[in-house]
Amino acid sequence: MADIQRTLVLIKPDAVQRELVGEIVTRFERKGLKTIGMKMAHLDEATLTEHYGHLKDKPFFGDLKKFMMQTPVIALVLEGFDIIEVVRVIVGATNPRAADAGTIRSDLSMNVPSNIIHASDSLESAGHEIKRFFADNELFAYDKLTDKFHFGEGV
Ligand code: UDP
Ligand code: MG
Repeated sequence: MADIQRTLVLIKPDAVQRELVGEIVTRFERKGLKTIGMKMAHLDEATLTEHYGHLKDKPFFGDLKKFMMQTPVIALVLEGFDIIEVVRVIVGATNPRAADAGTIRSDLSMNVPSNIIHASDSLESAGHEIKRFFADNELFAYDKLTDKFHFGEGV
């Protein structure tokens, strides 16, 4: 039986500027994924230093943070079966030029750091990342009436 998990998505400033927010949200909706949190936030350097802490020794760390502060981002929390892996598959590889065709990064972008979207890469990082961007009362529990069509009866 698959596990119900939560994952954090950030729609990055390049997507906000290029008016791709609706396109990205639509891709998740059409897959049948459940959004339980959504907000706009202008990230500060301290938050980004923490969020991208695993990259702090990389030469592109400063440029990445500057890029992420250019405009507000849209933050989403999605919930569902194996959602971390499902969303990473939909998002595609970090380098958009190497990403599989049909993924968000392959279809909509050509470069880093401007690869459109962030998605948590493990259960552990999803837990930290959701807490970084959302308070408990900004996440919502509700029944999604279309689940029976996406998942069939008995799940
Ligand atoms: N990035 C970059 N240059 C690189 C690798 C990564 O600017 O050579 C940026 C890119 O925006 C990427 C982010 O840093 O999405 C975080 O990198 P990570 O390795 O965590 O990739 P992701 O989990 O986003 O696929
Ligand atoms: Mg990552």
